[in-house]
Amino acid sequence: MIQFIGKAALLALSMMSVSAYASHWSYEGEGSPEHWGELDESFKTCQMGMNQSPINIDSTVQAHISPLQTGYIDGPVTLTNNGHTIQAVEKADTRDTITLDNQTWTLQQFHFHSPSENTVHGKKYAMEMHLVHKNAKGELTVVAVMFDKGAANAELDKLWNVMPGHAEQSATLITHLDINKLLPTDKTYWRFSGSLTTPPCSEGVTWIVLKQPMTLSESQWEKFTHTMHHDNNRPVQSLHGRVVVE
Ligand SMILES: [Zn+2]
Repeated sequence: MIQFIGKAALLALSMMSVSAYASHWSYEGEGSPEHWGELDESFKTCQMGMNQSPINIDSTVQAHISPLQTGYIDGPVTLTNNGHTIQAVEKADTRDTITLDNQTWTLQQFHFHSPSENTVHGKKYAMEMHLVHKNAKGELTVVAVMFDKGAANAELDKLWNVMPGHAEQSATLITHLDINKLLPTDKTYWRFSGSLTTPPCSEGVTWIVLKQPMTLSESQWEKFTHTMHHDNNRPVQSLHGRVVVE
């Protein structure tokens, strides 16, 4: 009886480790982007989806698209290293919103990729920031801001100064961060329909990529890439007939 319990427990343990391993996605090795769709049943959209992000923004269609209005007041409250990115998280009742299509979208979190995930005429930027917003129906709009190497961004230092060095570590932000200073004044954009760029790669996400890049310094870029240890960009995905409007 004791032996039986032992075997059952061992089996349960090995099954747990297999399933934990199966959904362990990453940017290199066995869990790298080309395998995401096979790692877990819930990730199959990463492989089968026809509206996947990121994309290369190349040919575009002119349209009368409404201006993006931002209303960032509060700023994030915590900064987390989740092993995949550095993510600034908003408080639940944040007043940080954008207005798009006559709807209000509330900022949930923002995070960073290096090099950029979306590319413009094949160009990869040094870094890309994704501000993830949700409307009342739970739909997502991501505002993407590109960063070239150049002058340091002082506001970024408020985050970088408390950047957790290891995965699964978080820091509380005490100094107020002005999100507006992480975005360009000129908010003209490219727009397309896409997905989350990480598993489960869910679709139905509105992407707003700001045309005007910001800058970060070489040392700011190094701090991020050294903390991540590797690139954290998913390769560009096929358009499958999608149109980018501007
Ligand atoms: Zn992202």
